[in-house]
Amino acid sequence: MAELVTQAPPGTGLIDPFGRRIDYLRLSVIDACNYACVYCVPECGIAPSLAEARLSAAELVRIAGVFAALGVGRIRLTGGEPLVRRDLVGIASAIGGLDGVHDLSLSTNGHRLDRQAAALHAAGVRRVNVSLDSLDAARFAAITRGGRLDAVLAGIDAALAAGMSPVKLNMVVMAGENDTEIEAMLDFALGRGLELRFIEAMPVGAAGDSVRTRRIDAATLLERVRAWGGSDLLPQAAPCGGGPARMFRFPDGRGTVGVISAVSQHFCATCNRVRVTAEGELLLCLGHEGGVSLRDPLRAGASDADLAAIVHTAIARKPWGHDFNDPAARDGVSPNQMLLTGG
Ligand code: SAM
Repeated sequence: MAELVTQAPPGTGLIDPFGRRIDYLRLSVIDACNYACVYCVPECGIAPSLAEARLSAAELVRIAGVFAALGVGRIRLTGGEPLVRRDLVGIASAIGGLDGVHDLSLSTNGHRLDRQAAALHAAGVRRVNVSLDSLDAARFAAITRGGRLDAVLAGIDAALAAGMSPVKLNMVVMAGENDTEIEAMLDFALGRGLELRFIEAMPVGAAGDSVRTRRIDAATLLERVRAWGGSDLLPQAAPCGGGPARMFRFPDGRGTVGVISAVSQHFCATCNRVRVTAEGELLLCLGHEGGVSLRDPLRAGASDADLAAIVHTAIARKPWGHDFNDPAARDGVSPNQMLLTGG
């Protein structure tokens, strides 16, 4: 249930109608991906947008700059698969150099990270999240519809070698698909000093709906982690930039583990983010349609001040949260597609 909290004073950045400060942007640089994960992309695929519909490098940087000037200092480059974009290093470098951007990170499937990790680090990307749903090559290929586990593992090693920190692994856990690998993933990640986050599959888009019945909730995931560790887990405050994961650490110092319980225990009350799609649409909530184009006014000659005003107006109608658990709302399925919204 939405709670209207006290509004922050004007002039203190982007504050939504529920008093939440918006200081985090997920910027999709491309809506195409070289993988097609079963929980993300429907079997029939999703047509990528035309090249001219996508934001150019200069437009991405311009929009990032508008947000940075509005106090959005944390930007995550995402997609689609950002590393499919050939000019990604240049985009990262320009965004990382913007006034006000103090945290530039990347979400990737890791397939091309091997070749680009060092250049991305030099360009200012200091943190990376890599999707890794299986350590079994055949299962990995099946979940990603053709992905190569060896390439992703090489990408993770390259990110560590380049000095990215933290390197986080994201595992979407689904019953009957990869849930037998929770313990193996803990061995792998914690043994290498990687932060592991287990993610509940979300009913986003056609593919997300199809995996809804196979979602494993955060409570079950945590039980498995406890059983693996043989001891209690200590809750850990999320570090700055830690995102929505609930973090835990083992008392014996073996490492930290997170769960992202977007469905069973959502975190909308503390939502601090918005997304901009590869076509320049500002999306206010993953669970709601109805974005606002920034690309169209930008291409029509809008100034940065005009764009900032559009962002302000949009934030004033940011919804309270998603309705993944509401059968009345399209049966709880978000009409968005993760591939297009920028996960
Ligand atoms: N290609 C990049 C990657 O693999 O991280 C960035 C885009 S991808 C859409 C971002 C994240 O969204 C990935 O960690 C992926 O596992 C997650 N994701 C996609 N569909 C999801 C769903 N239905 N439920 C939960 N997570 C999902």
